[in-house]
This record gives sequence, C-alpha cells and structure tokens, in this order.
Amino acid sequence: MSADPATEAARRRTFAIISHPDAGKTTLTEGLLLAGGAIHLAGEVAARGQARRTKSDWMKIERERGISVSSSVMMFEHQGLVFNLLDTPGHEDFSEDTYRTLTAADSAIMVLDAAKGIEPQTLKLFEVCRLRDIPITTFINKMDREALDPFELLDEIHSKLAMDTAPMYWPAASGQRFAGMLDLSTEEFVPFRRLEHGEEGFAVEDRQKRGTNSYLHNVTDDVRKELEETAELAREGLPKFDLTAFREGHLTPVYFGSALRRFGVLELLAGLAANAPPPRPLKATVKGTETEVAPGRADVTGFIFKIQANMDPKHRDRVGFFRISSGKFQRGMTLKTAAGKGFNVHNPLMFMAQEREIADEAFPGDVIGIPSHGGLRVGDSLSQSGEVVFQGIPNFAPEILKRVRVRDPLKQKHLRKALESLGEEGVTQVFKPVQGGDLVVGAVGALQFDVLDERMKAEYGLDVVFETSPYQAARWVSADARADLDAFIDKSQSQMAEDVDGSPVYLGKSAWEIGYVQEKNPKVRFSDTKERA
Ligand code: GDP
Repeated sequence: MSADPATEAARRRTFAIISHPDAGKTTLTEGLLLAGGAIHLAGEVAARGQARRTKSDWMKIERERGISVSSSVMMFEHQGLVFNLLDTPGHEDFSEDTYRTLTAADSAIMVLDAAKGIEPQTLKLFEVCRLRDIPITTFINKMDREALDPFELLDEIHSKLAMDTAPMYWPAASGQRFAGMLDLSTEEFVPFRRLEHGEEGFAVEDRQKRGTNSYLHNVTDDVRKELEETAELAREGLPKFDLTAFREGHLTPVYFGSALRRFGVLELLAGLAANAPPPRPLKATVKGTETEVAPGRADVTGFIFKIQANMDPKHRDRVGFFRISSGKFQRGMTLKTAAGKGFNVHNPLMFMAQEREIADEAFPGDVIGIPSHGGLRVGDSLSQSGEVVFQGIPNFAPEILKRVRVRDPLKQKHLRKALESLGEEGVTQVFKPVQGGDLVVGAVGALQFDVLDERMKAEYGLDVVFETSPYQAARWVSADARADLDAFIDKSQSQMAEDVDGSPVYLGKSAWEIGYVQEKNPKVRFSDTKERA
C-alpha cells in the first residue's frame, strides 16, 4: 500500500454540508453514502442515529425536538478516493459547533431547497465558509417538487453571496414535469425516473447523447422546447466553470437533483472527486516562525476541532476529533501540544459510515477520534514534534449569559467541575466572576441551556437553576502592554471574570456599555472571538 502522506493527501476530499434546516442535508448525506457504497440500504443513517441515541440520555433532546445536536464524521472510499464527510448540526443554536467543524473541512456542499433558495441559516454558514475561503459546491435539491425558476435561483446566489454561479447541468422543468437534466459540458441528457415505492438505491439511467435517436426521447414536446431554450440561454449568459475561481471561493459550480429520489447525487459526487480540493497547506507557527505546513511534511500535525464527552455515560470518556494536516499517523504515536503536553494515542478511532473502528494509520484530511480523560481542548494543535501551532479555532462570544446555581448547596464544587468539563467541550462557556461566588454561563443560542440542563442531570446528577444575569455580553480583553491590561482589570473588578483557561473576560451590561467602555479604554482590545494558541 502506498503510504506517502503527499500522495495519500491528494486522494482525500474532506468536506461538510451546509444548509438551512429541512433543505435535505440528512437525505443528501444518506444519498452520498449510498452512492459511495458506504451503506447499502436507505434509512441506515437514521438507524445508526437511533442506535447511538439509545446510548446516551442527554440526546433525549435530539429525539424530542427531532434535531441532531452532535456532529460526526463519516469516511468512505469511492473510485480510488477517500471522502471524509463532516456532519454538522442543523439547528441554529448549535451554529458555534458547526463553525468549528467547518474549520476542519477543505470544501463544503451548500444544499438549497429549489422552492426556497437561500435561507437565513444558509447565509450565516456561507459567511463562515467565506471567512476561511472554503470552496463551495451548490446542490439545488427537491427538483422533483415545484421549483423556482433556475435563473432566479442562480441570480439569488449571485446577488446574496457575491459569487459567480456556473451550472454544470441544466434541469428540464421541475415537480411533476421534472424530466431530468442536461450535462452542459458533454451534451448528454440524464433522464429522471421516479423511483417506485419501496425501491432502494439509484435509478441509474443511460445518458443520452445529443444527436442519437434516444436523445430526449421520453421528454414531452413542451418540456423539450423549454429545456432547449433555457439551456441555450444558460450556456450563453452564465459563467463557465473555472477551477481556479472555484478553489479561491469566487465561483460555485451548481448541480441540480433530488436527494430523496437519488437523482443527481452521483453527478455531485463525481464533481467533488474531480474538482473539490484535497487538503491544503495551512498557516502555522513552527518554533516561533510563521510558515505553512504542507500535507507532505513528515511531522504528523493537526488540530482538535471538536470534543465530545460522555458518549458513554458509564465512563467519563472524552473523544477529541483530530483533523490531520500533515504526515502519516500511526497508532501508538505520541502527539504533543506546543506547551509540551503529550498524548499517547493507543486507540485512535476512525469513523466509518456505519461504525467506529480502531485506526492503524491515517493521513492528511482524515479525522481520528482521540479518547482521553481530559486535557484536550478545542483548538489545540498537536504534533509529533510538539513544535507546531496552527492558527487557532475561534471561540465565539456568547450572546446569552445566565447565572447558574445548583439546588443542593453542598454540590457547589461538583457544579464547578461539571461546568468546566462541559465548557472544555465547547457546549457552553463558563466564566468565573472575579468578585462573588456564582458562575456565569454563556451560550450562543438559547437551546444550549436546555442541553446543559439535561446533561447536568443525566451525567452529573446535578439539579441546576439558571437565573437572569445582569450581563448581556462578554468580551475577551487584551492589550499590547501588560500594564495597560492590568490597569483596566484593576479598575473594572466588578465586571471582570475569567474563562476556563484563566483568560480575562469583561462582562458588559449591554452592547452599548461595551462600546462606551471600549471608547474610554483605547489601549485595550475587546474581542468577541478568542483564538486559542
Ligand atoms: P435536513 O433538515 O436538511 O437534514 O433535511 P432532511 O434531509 O431531513 O429533509 C427534510 C425533508 O425534506 C424530509 O421530509 C425529506 O424527506 C424531504 N426531502 C429531502 N430531499 C428531498 C427531495 O429531493 N425531494 C423531496 N420531495 N423531498 C425531499
């Protein structure tokens, strides 16, 4: 087996799917796994979810609300390539988790509902992709239902996301009249056949080449006329696919289909295989010098983008999701943080579509799970040499702050430990005010408090109450000169707190107040994200 990290990296495609809830992310995930041969029956993604859910109590919330809270990784091989699909939670309250997952993806698929176009959550997630220059492939889903006009859809992407759109296929009508799509580069028509009820897998139809007898033979005259006219307009009026523009994030290739009917999914996967980027060199600091770490580098490097704790409530286990950036990882290796903390990785987990396995080796682009009993943090850079620090993964300033108390006062100490442990996982953020005893918990969305409440009960046996806090915003503070920072902290004691790492945080009573304090203290930086070293 070839095992050179540069060669292995070149055949990796690590991607995430972004969408507004209900656009069809879960269905498309299932379709891609089926197309890649990673699962064989429709419904297995849901079945796997079910099995996992029964394991852990806190996931009750997922069941009750029908949302998926935890991201996972699914790896599959297809046509000589290794795909790593990073699953992201869809609900908006968990967007912080989603943001972090996107830091580990090399590209993203944006799924749009053909009847709705760009929705609020699509836009938010898109902005994160743009921050990191992640190339985006668009999949316009649900073409088997009445759709908006394709020109209107592409125009909306163009105007709302400021990106050129290059259709790779062009649809022949939609809804009841949906007949298939034309491959704009080969002039072949891919006919749509509605799957019979209970039929699994793919309705693979022969492509019909223009000029042959079979070309558009099953398509009604009105649909054919419409297709020929609109495809011509699309070809003349819309940008052509350009690999460089795509990789730089200026252009998105657009695919059409129906995830539910398994139509257009193989074409989307072929598009990812051909054009989506393999792992790229990443900016990092190596021994204090800024440089780039290329996938072919011998030193095994990477970063933790997510921590999931208590997957099994009987053991206080924690799994750090480690995205490999360079080198050939082998089981049993010791990986170190830049601060010198070492983790001997005996049982790295590999997340296949249906199960977890122990990974004997892994390459750039892959994600392995590192079990540990604490010590790992989201944003940690790990390397064999212990010399590499990647640009941090930001922690977002919480938008809702609450004071937290435990009903049984004897359990105050436990509360602190439990909160810190969940804080390390990034579920919520915990701040310890410099003055006064009650801890302040911050979250980006309200639903996170429900998750916290559930998990405190189920995993730590703690009955907690959240109370309104006088604070509405938190900002990490820093300054070029230590003395300036110390002076500010000193005079702001009553509103200062520390985060889990002991970094100073200013708790503001309103956004306005923060603006005011900021103006009065020009030497102090107020940041709503914290980049971890
Ligand atoms: P998610 O919230 O983005 O994960 O969306 P789901 O994959 O759960 O899909 C939401 C709903 O849309 C479900 O009822 C799906 O069956 C349905 N759906 C997904 N894809 C299609 C499609 O291509 N055509 C039709 N008609 N329905 C679809």
